Amino acid sequence: MAQKDLYEILGIARGADDKAIKAAYRKMALEWHPDKHKGDKAAEEKFKEINQAYEVLSDKQKRQQYDTFGSTGGQGGFPGGGGQGFGGFDFSGFSGGGGGGFADIFESFFGGGGGGGGRAKPRSQARRGNDIEANIRIGFEEAIFGAEKELEITKPDVCENCEGKGHEKDAKIVNCGTCQGTGEIREIRQTLLGQMSTSRLCDMCNGEGRVPDKKCGVCHGTARVRMKQRVKVKIPAGVDNGSTIRLSGKGEGGVKGGSAGDLYIVLSVEPSKRFVRSGADIHSVIEIPVVQAVLGGEVKVETLHGAEVIKLPAGTEDGKVFKLADHGAPFLNREGRGDHLAKVKVVIPDKLSKREKELYLELAQESGIEVKKGGLFW
Ligand SMILES: [Zn+2]
Ligand SMILES: [Zn+2]
Repeated sequence: MAQKDLYEILGIARGADDKAIKAAYRKMALEWHPDKHKGDKAAEEKFKEINQAYEVLSDKQKRQQYDTFGSTGGQGGFPGGGGQGFGGFDFSGFSGGGGGGFADIFESFFGGGGGGGGRAKPRSQARRGNDIEANIRIGFEEAIFGAEKELEITKPDVCENCEGKGHEKDAKIVNCGTCQGTGEIREIRQTLLGQMSTSRLCDMCNGEGRVPDKKCGVCHGTARVRMKQRVKVKIPAGVDNGSTIRLSGKGEGGVKGGSAGDLYIVLSVEPSKRFVRSGADIHSVIEIPVVQAVLGGEVKVETLHGAEVIKLPAGTEDGKVFKLADHGAPFLNREGRGDHLAKVKVVIPDKLSKREKELYLELAQESGIEVKKGGLFW
């Protein structure tokens, strides 16, 4: 089944800015909200689709990923992801994981727990770690045959000292000093309409009203610390410039029980001196002397998979392309390989030996071409 275009789902243009995306999402989500279409399976699907589209397009990184691989039909695509292009993308990671992201926006649109103006509920402090993007440069042949690489990344990861809890093991849980255990902070503001009292969740305890009395001495309560990590990456055969590899769970560590983010590795491939690649096809140039172009003969062609001999027919013209089927780069998401395309370049000599000159003159005479001494040619 073809993946629907995420922009189409939200009814927006490709270049839409964040505001337009949010507005379109809000409109669509209200229209297709399950409360309005009770028991309608199709509407439910549509609502799900809208939310998935929004989750990708509202996230700068994910949107970029989608723009690169979703629409172009996958220059490279996600290796290991089932189909082509965007097919292998995994939405599940975006939906879960407590606060942040979709849940927050959803609540602000639909009033969350309802009632309006009621006391805000404590938020779970668990948060999914951010995704990270890293670049690696690989050789031309490594992209074609695959490789194993190692890279070092520095990222916030789960604090080992407190096992990601943010407090020392012997800490006691006490009333939050900032909100006096109420979980909320009340503020009185002067407005044109008079005094207004607002309340918001206490940042210190996230609305729980209780906090540990001893923060972790290593992460100072953040539950994460920056650390260096070496990551092994298996690069599948057939990747190309701009291909992205996703290492699930190798991104930033989650906060207080949240899951880890993903690591996206973007490949840049060094050019080759001998070959030019276009998709899975490989192009090269074979230079042949003019005599061979005229008389024909055998010529050796270097390919990625060793040398091959091709037979040139007599009278081969400059620019003629010979195809060596199945001698190109492997396809990324299916069996088989592209072709090797060797283009003939006839080399015209600019220096001749005495004997060669004699022979060319003789040839000219034979062909009825008049060549004068001291003339245009010599
Ligand atoms: Zn508090
Ligand atoms: Zn810690």
